Amino acid sequence: MNLIALPAFTDNYFWMLHDGREALVVDPGDSAPVVDALDRLGLALTAILVTHHHPDHVGGVATLMARLNGPVHGPRREALPVAVQPHGQGDHVEWNGVAFQVLDVPGHTAGHIAYFAEAAPGGPLLFCGDTLFSGGCGRLFEGTPAQMHASLSALAALPAATRVCCAHEYTLSNLRFAVAAEPRNAELQAHLSQCEAMRQQGLPTLPSTIGVERQINPFLRCDQPALAAAAREHGATSDDPVSVFAALRQWKNVFR
Ligand code: ZN
Ligand code: FE
Repeated sequence: MNLIALPAFTDNYFWMLHDGREALVVDPGDSAPVVDALDRLGLALTAILVTHHHPDHVGGVATLMARLNGPVHGPRREALPVAVQPHGQGDHVEWNGVAFQVLDVPGHTAGHIAYFAEAAPGGPLLFCGDTLFSGGCGRLFEGTPAQMHASLSALAALPAATRVCCAHEYTLSNLRFAVAAEPRNAELQAHLSQCEAMRQQGLPTLPSTIGVERQINPFLRCDQPALAAAAREHGATSDDPVSVFAALRQWKNVFR
């Protein structure tokens, strides 16, 4: 099984899983990069997974219906421009022998879902849309800090080896903020240098892993005293992880 990131727009990735014959694509906001990959690799598109309703994640689905021989799976609590098989927490989606568990991860949008395949060939695999980014997390457009903190905590509890397939290449700007928030985190500094080198070579910094994110992502580390102290300087009124999270998210929104 092959996992590839199709770059799209300015900083999106459409993740594609394929076995050399059949392909699944996640969050195709545009059809062109997907059609190019299908044609280039000689693949049949047999499933689409959608995590949330934003156009950069669903905009290509209608056009791809002409190429699709299989289902479109999506969040049951969101209005999408195309008909989908609706899913929420506890549901299972199967594709080509890979079993995905659906997780509700509200916060970026109200009905955002993620797809987790614990027994995927090559190791556990997570498609998390705009909930978790490497070194960061999605903006809270439709959810509360408490909801997003709970969603991220559920993702952080997945196995350390889980490959984290985020929908955007935001890693360097996220890590620059992370260093400002937690300057004495040595793993974080090393990870930033490594990701800078990858971007200089034009490579994606993704997938990350849950194990790496637990070490470097401030939004998964709201229980750390150093981050609680930094958050207090940016509006947190207590060391409660949700208020630490809320203050860090707010600070990141204005960080340059
Ligand atoms: Zn989004
Ligand atoms: Fe997005």
